[in-house]
Amino acid sequence: MRSWPALDITVGAASDLLQAALLDYRITAIDETDSHRWRVVFASPADRDAAAGDLARRFRDLTIRFVDVPDQGWAARSQAAVRAIQVGRLIVAPPWDLPPVDDPARIVIIIHPSMGFGTGHHATTRLGLAALQALDLHGRTVLDVGTGSGVLAIAASRLGAARVAGIDDDADAIEAAGENLRLNPQASVQLRLGDLRSATPESSDVVAANLTGGLLIRSARRLQDLTAPSGRLILSGLMAHEESGVRAAFADLALIARAEEEEWVCVTLQRRA
Ligand code: SAH
Repeated sequence: MRSWPALDITVGAASDLLQAALLDYRITAIDETDSHRWRVVFASPADRDAAAGDLARRFRDLTIRFVDVPDQGWAARSQAAVRAIQVGRLIVAPPWDLPPVDDPARIVIIIHPSMGFGTGHHATTRLGLAALQALDLHGRTVLDVGTGSGVLAIAASRLGAARVAGIDDDADAIEAAGENLRLNPQASVQLRLGDLRSATPESSDVVAANLTGGLLIRSARRLQDLTAPSGRLILSGLMAHEESGVRAAFADLALIARAEEEEWVCVTLQRRA
């Protein structure tokens, strides 16, 4: 029987920080036994081993145990628990929890919870979805950097953007985004596999980047170059304590909106003309 490489982690106080750190690894699922005990399942044993070493160094208060989880349909079971969520006019729903579309003002996006990050159940995705809705996307070009499940790109297309591209350096994410795009035939998104630091997509009117605080800082120059003059740059995935560092890295841009949920911050910036 196939088994999955996993870590059972007993989480200390910094569970949000740990959740953010886990974005750096290729993860298939996170099962929360309770709020302090997580089972994190990895794409490969090498991913697990690398993560275990890093996490032990970065977080002093974790207990980490290696486990191999037999495949007894746990993935399907934990996914089936995922329900639709709503952010403003957008409803992000798994295929098994589609809301009745009786309200023309609502837009339903179907996302299959799989390996691509972004089901709408993470605050950083919700903040990104809200920030996109605060802009008038009609006729605009949009680039979603680190598209994951494709959720922000699909949302931008459904919100009226003229042309939308999504880029991710993880082949599994691009595959998941492609599957989600097929579930949303009204959306049109060009998906590209590539690292934001080396790929050269043309600049866009609106750039959305839900990454991590550290990566946003390291990629600040590049993200600004990807944003057209007078264009908007949505930054999500940063934690409240990282905000001043991120804002300093993007000091040339004007702040036009800011929102916070739990410990997470999302800012919308405008590039000068
Ligand atoms: N946009 C989605 C997913 C965000 S998760 C949402 O808002 O929910 C961040 C994504 O960025 C992951 O899919 C990860 O693979 C991708 N990523 C991380 N570093 C990257 C890089 N250097 N270049 C391109 N994509 C990257």
